[in-house]
Amino acid sequence: MPVPKRKRSRARRDKRFANKGIKVKVFAKCSNCQEVLCPHQACKGCGHYKGKQVIATKTERLVKRTNERKEIVEKRAARQQSLQASEGKQESNE
Ligand SMILES: [Zn+2]
Repeated sequence: MPVPKRKRSRARRDKRFANKGIKVKVFAKCSNCQEVLCPHQACKGCGHYKGKQVIATKTERLVKRTNERKEIVEKRAARQQSLQASEGKQESNE
């Protein structure tokens, strides 16, 4: 019976299993915009999942954020105007 001349080192032996965990990646296409994406995930481009829009797109988030900032600026301006008006009244009363 043939017998190996030398013991295989751990490194040589383990090289055999080094690629065992590597798998081919699976990709799916968005049903709305045909973009390539991972399966069971909402599309980042158009926010669709299973034919429905489930998350906001980047542009929608940007529009929402700018509108919120505009509102804050308007509120601040209105508050300052009301403060100035009340100060003017107090000065006129004295
Ligand atoms: Zn999409």
